[in-house]
Amino acid sequence: MKIAVFSTKPYDRQFLEAANIAHGHDLTYFEPRLNTETVPLADGFSGVCVFVNDLLDATVLSELNKHGTRLIALRCAGFNNVDLAAARELQMTVVRVPAYSPFAVAEHTAGLILSLNRGIHRAYNRVREGNFALDGLMGFDLHDRTVGIVGTGRIGCVVTRIMQGFGCHLLAYDPVQNPDCEALGARYVPLEELFANSDIITLHCPLTPNTHHLVDVKALRRMKDGVMLINTSRGALIDTAALIQWNKAGKVGSVGLDVYEEEEDVFFEDLSNHVIQDDILARLLTFPNVIITGHQAFFTREAVQNIADTTLGNITAYERGQIDPINNLTYEAL
Ligand code: NAD
Repeated sequence: MKIAVFSTKPYDRQFLEAANIAHGHDLTYFEPRLNTETVPLADGFSGVCVFVNDLLDATVLSELNKHGTRLIALRCAGFNNVDLAAARELQMTVVRVPAYSPFAVAEHTAGLILSLNRGIHRAYNRVREGNFALDGLMGFDLHDRTVGIVGTGRIGCVVTRIMQGFGCHLLAYDPVQNPDCEALGARYVPLEELFANSDIITLHCPLTPNTHHLVDVKALRRMKDGVMLINTSRGALIDTAALIQWNKAGKVGSVGLDVYEEEEDVFFEDLSNHVIQDDILARLLTFPNVIITGHQAFFTREAVQNIADTTLGNITAYERGQIDPINNLTYEAL
């Protein structure tokens, strides 16, 4: 099938090319993100293959559809960037990679928790400058602390297992309870109770209209003083402006973010020679108790390999009229 692959980096091409040997699709790589400006690039392609920050709103989908595109193949699990109702209206098929490596994201989450708690990011810089002082680096034992996991699906469950290994108490919130998490000792509680009683709160639910700004002023007010907040899910789960205010006020102990609500113009690019125009992101970067990584939690060899294999498998299955219903979003999520 003739596919326009958007938002591609050299590593995407490398893994997609290797996986495509078994499939033989005609892949054309474009570096830019798919959006209203770049949609003409997809002219004449039966499918587009996209990532987390490509924009597939009703306008882009309608343009794609007009020019013959019938398949949207996401190289990711989250699908908040696709207007599924519009896709259905246009009878376009949307497929994704629901599970490529929950371990990759969960292990990055643990990395952020450990780094923030022990100030490893600061110690690294200090020691390189010949500063071996420990002031300001005191952490706390994770053992006996309470971790609140919001969203206990594939990734949240692996995080639950990892944090259980550290000897943490586990609170969980999810509209659908996961028996594997309960078996690990997680106790499901209302979200307000999780916010109020957790020393560390980590977000692993999808971004939907219901979860947009799940962590807002009200939620932040409820949290313990000195709380550690981790988001490796989607940026807009947190009201970032509110987080900055509460961090300035000294309420928040530390923050680890792999995602940011306005990340699409910044993440995945080398902007080291540019002035950052986003004042909220620029302010976040000034805090000593905040670590930001650029949406890299998924980025392990195993995960990128699985993404390539499943994406090309999805395209082949579409061609044959036999898509795995778990990977097919067209009707499932409506
Ligand atoms: P999943 O579908 O297995 O689990 C998501 C869980 O969230 C489900 O159990 C669901 O019931 C729950 N949920 C839904 N609404 C909720 C709500 N209002 N409150 C609490 N829980 C709710 O998905 P997953 O594979 O565990 O991925 C979770 C999220 O992680 C994805 O939606 C994606 O946005 C994000 N993600 C980020 C990266 C990264 O690189 N940073 C990579 C992969 C996935």
